[in-house]
Amino acid sequence: MTGIEASEPHQIELFEHGFVRLDDAMASDLSVVNSARVSFAVRKEAMGDKDAGLIRFLMRERHGSPFEHNSFRFHIRAPIFVAREWFRHRFSSFNEESGRYHQLEGDFYIPEPEAVRSQVGKPGSYSFEPVDPALADDTIATFERVYKELYAEYQALMDKGVAKELARALLPFGVFTQFYWTVNARSLMNFLSLRNAVAAQYEIRAYADAVETFFSQKMPVTHRSFVDSGRTPP
Ligand SMILES: Cc1cc2nc3c(=O)[nH]c(=O)nc-3n(C[C@H](O)[C@H](O)[C@H](O)COP(=O)(O)OP(=O)(O)OC[C@H]3O[C@@H](n4cnc5c(N)ncnc54)[C@H](O)[C@@H]3O)c2cc1C
Repeated sequence: MTGIEASEPHQIELFEHGFVRLDDAMASDLSVVNSARVSFAVRKEAMGDKDAGLIRFLMRERHGSPFEHNSFRFHIRAPIFVAREWFRHRFSSFNEESGRYHQLEGDFYIPEPEAVRSQVGKPGSYSFEPVDPALADDTIATFERVYKELYAEYQALMDKGVAKELARALLPFGVFTQFYWTVNARSLMNFLSLRNAVAAQYEIRAYADAVETFFSQKMPVTHRSFVDSGRTPP
């Protein structure tokens, strides 16, 4: 068991065993406006006519600090290869499930047939092309077989008395982990500019797209300005 309630509000399911869940947020477009207008000792209770323009100005001119006075806390379940890319985003906070103290679930990432791809071109300009259906099926079968074998060996080592922290070394990048991620809108937009982008790996891009859905709901004017500015973070 993962200890997670199935299909909660504010949760987007991904890749059979994964999800992005907005655990909590202290986030609004008004916080951006008030953080900027404190320069003039002005505070507003609600967004006014000129405030969307102010947010667009801040975004365009890359006056980033007013976008830092908010916070999103996400609970995420993702394969380790996705988490590993995610954890490179240092301007945010993480806590992750432990493979030392707790036996990891036997949940693994298996790509859909259409997500089995080849890699064509050079570093920096790869394109990822579909493979023929027979190779897609064969790849999926290989994933399933190897995952099953490795998880059985992981379990067997622990049954014989080997510590979880050592036995886990057998598990591959495709095993699911879960973590909490707390981030402000400025850093979130940096994350989205890099990970919900053409150059990002398909799997983390799917997660980033789910994150962006919640961001757009909580801070619609800021999100629109980010998109309109060509997704350049402030
Ligand atoms: C398509 C893609 C391919 C990648 N390939 C690789 C790879 O092959 N190998 C690899 O190691 N990584 C790779 N990365 C990770 C990448 O180099 C970044 O570590 C990651 O995207 C986090 O971005 P960030 O540093 O902007 O975010 P954060 O760590 O959240 O930092 C936010 C911003 O703070 C500033 N900042 C943070 N730390 C410093 C610092 N020490 N000094 C100065 N300014 C700082 C920068 O302006 C930075 O943009 C890849 C990322 C992408 C999107």
